[in-house]
Amino acid sequence: MISKKLLDILVCPRCKGELLLEEDKLICRTGNIAFPIKNDIPIVVMKEAIDLGSN
Ligand SMILES: [Zn+2]
Repeated sequence: MISKKLLDILVCPRCKGELLLEEDKLICRTGNIAFPIKNDIPIVVMKEAIDLGSN
């Protein structure tokens, strides 16, 4: 589980906005992208970003 403290520190590498924890990923609502969490480690880098499409 990702700690709240760590979540507060993490920002989206693209827009520097906040990230929302959702199950096994971190989501940037601004950019509609998600970052995976692998073995409890958030992979917050653009090359791992998952495009959620525009909706
Ligand atoms: Zn972003």
